[in-house]
Amino acid sequence: MHGVGFRPFVWRLARALAVTGSVRNDGSGVIVEAWGPNPVLDDFLGRLKSEAPPLARIDAEAWTEIEGPIPEGFSILPSDQGPILAEVAPDVATCSECLADVLNPRDRRYRYAFTNCTNCGPRLSIIRGIPYDRPLTSMAGFAMCAACQADYDDPDNRRFHAQPIACPTCGPKLWLENRQGLVPCDDPITEVARRLKAGEIAAIKGIGGFQLACDATSPEAVAELRRRKLRGAKPLALMARDLAVIRRYCAVSDQEVDALCSPAAPIVILEARGDTLEGVAPGLVRLGVMLPNTPLHHLLLAGMDRPIVLTSGNVSSAPQATGNDAARTKLAAVADGWLMHDREIVTRLDDSVVRIDPAGPSILRRARGLAPDSIALATAFARAPTVLAMGGDLKAAFCLLRDGHATPSPHVGDLDDADVFADYRRQVSRFLRLYGLAPAVVAIDLHSDYLSARWGRVVASETGARLVSVQHHHAHFAACLAENGVPPGDDRCVGIILDGAGAGLDGTIWGGEILLGGYRDVVRRSHFPAVPLPGGDRAAREPWRNTVAHLAAAFGPEWRKQLHSTELAARFADAPVRLIEDMIAKRVNSPLSSSAGRLFDAAAAAVGFRGSVLYEGQAAMELEALADPYMADAGPYPFEISRFDGRYVPLWAAMWRALLSDLRSSAEPGLIAARFHRTIVASVAEMALRIAEEASARRVALSGGVMQNRHVREGLAKTLRRHGLEVLLHKAVPSNDGGLSLGQAAVAVSGNLGGR
Ligand code: ZN
Ligand code: ZN
Ligand code: FE
Repeated sequence: MHGVGFRPFVWRLARALAVTGSVRNDGSGVIVEAWGPNPVLDDFLGRLKSEAPPLARIDAEAWTEIEGPIPEGFSILPSDQGPILAEVAPDVATCSECLADVLNPRDRRYRYAFTNCTNCGPRLSIIRGIPYDRPLTSMAGFAMCAACQADYDDPDNRRFHAQPIACPTCGPKLWLENRQGLVPCDDPITEVARRLKAGEIAAIKGIGGFQLACDATSPEAVAELRRRKLRGAKPLALMARDLAVIRRYCAVSDQEVDALCSPAAPIVILEARGDTLEGVAPGLVRLGVMLPNTPLHHLLLAGMDRPIVLTSGNVSSAPQATGNDAARTKLAAVADGWLMHDREIVTRLDDSVVRIDPAGPSILRRARGLAPDSIALATAFARAPTVLAMGGDLKAAFCLLRDGHATPSPHVGDLDDADVFADYRRQVSRFLRLYGLAPAVVAIDLHSDYLSARWGRVVASETGARLVSVQHHHAHFAACLAENGVPPGDDRCVGIILDGAGAGLDGTIWGGEILLGGYRDVVRRSHFPAVPLPGGDRAAREPWRNTVAHLAAAFGPEWRKQLHSTELAARFADAPVRLIEDMIAKRVNSPLSSSAGRLFDAAAAAVGFRGSVLYEGQAAMELEALADPYMADAGPYPFEISRFDGRYVPLWAAMWRALLSDLRSSAEPGLIAARFHRTIVASVAEMALRIAEEASARRVALSGGVMQNRHVREGLAKTLRRHGLEVLLHKAVPSNDGGLSLGQAAVAVSGNLGGR
């Protein structure tokens, strides 16, 4: 609860009730000593809980009677350096009171970009160590002026003990640079806003790293940003001044308003409607939008009645720059100007991404504003040893488990970029140091070639921790169970894991799985048919390879006959397709996989997706977008469910036959896409229902990267609930590999824990 204004709140409440005593932070939380008549203490205790400030979260409380001399008055004591177990708080978007100060010409913080208070401002991004006190943050170098010191010392002030407190006299300063050096100007923010409107691209130092900005309503500026940043079709995030601007481009529900305005101020995925923004999210029907999260962003957008693109300050898949020098060199060919400041970013943070579906909210990327909030697990996990779980290589994030709580790191990125991997290693060490932990267990993916797994082995050997490897889809399953508070003893859950790829227990690559069990053990009760991945990883980049593989798997060597009179027949008549066909027939570099993601790729390429994907999951995301307007009316294609070795395996030949027939009769691509989605939902639901019934299981967890597809997630949740099952969905960590480490941690320790 550090830095969320809890101590001054306790102080004010104690004074109001004439309770005497003290409040202080120690490593594990807040300690209150209070003296007074019993009814008053009861009132005090009740109001401590009911009136706590917005960011304070009381996870646990314990009360004991104390003896000793009754103190006079109530005081706030300095922090203890005790054992460090407390929380590090996430960064919080500017609160309305601070925003009012910034916009008030009579306030000494007028137009000051680093204004904050105990209810808002930077946290994880500036913290070097805990307890959370100014000397252990990147504000250490800024000595408070007398006015700030007075605010800081006054328990009645909103900025009492606000560690990053600052004002124009004593705090960080902003300036504008271009490639030649400093650009003299009175007000760098206004100048940058002017340049953005004129079509320039600016690098802006945000809370967790540099961001690149341009006018989102200028197709030329957007195209130029993509060209310089080497960013293909991947959607770009937007920032807008207020809800009114957002509503000109997007439909926004009440729940989405709440998400946009929440203290985390994440990117919210909204349905595009109204004016279009060319080039921002090609091929998609949704836009990622956020509101300003710092005074700097508020001031920048104040004069703009249009949204800006605000995307990570990097080239291609590198980590966004955090240091000023790195931003100058790495973005030299990207930005026209740099809005810089002299407060150091300690932990790099991407913007978080959330989406609100009828089935509930989901987090697609957990970073600024959400990390490192911890997640309370079932009580039996309190007996578990300390775990460090390494996650996977894509959308990497690691996780600490201690005292019955899991603390996932922020999203780090894809480890195949050497700089991202270096940052991942640094962040692992920083987190262990920050929380003062030496892991007793290190959990890794079963895939021994994963960089995250290799690094886990290094950490385990350095610390003497026990190494546990966890099957990829078991980890996805367990992550969903863990964040929903399922106890370690529950071993009769069904896990529907629809995913791209992960190492399986039988040496093949798994991906479309239904598991039965729990944390300790799972039985693979169903899987998608194992189909070759021609070219291995290249199959994930070139969707059409999967179309060939799936058609050949469904119809055998004569598969081409099925294409007769479709547009595919001509498209698939060329040489590379024959080459792939050959690879599959001879089993050259074509590992078998039950991947669900590749089946979506196969369908996307059949429906019309050409060439290579420009970002992970692009073909499937476009297929989802295509299906959008048709989902309500479309019915499933026929499918068959067979049984091998006691496992259910869906056979897709009938689906492909009907899909090709739709192509032949020139059905709308969107309708075909919708029918495909319905087929996946209907077949998977049917298998899951049979498995649940046979095992008398009542709970079904949905996880894996494909569960980000809202048609699949919603369709399955709805169908399974209609049949009386309890459906567990991800809401705290992503269903993609960003949530993997939570599941790894839970699986790694569950064996030794008791029942509930
Ligand atoms: Zn504030
Ligand atoms: Zn000051
Ligand atoms: Fe996965």
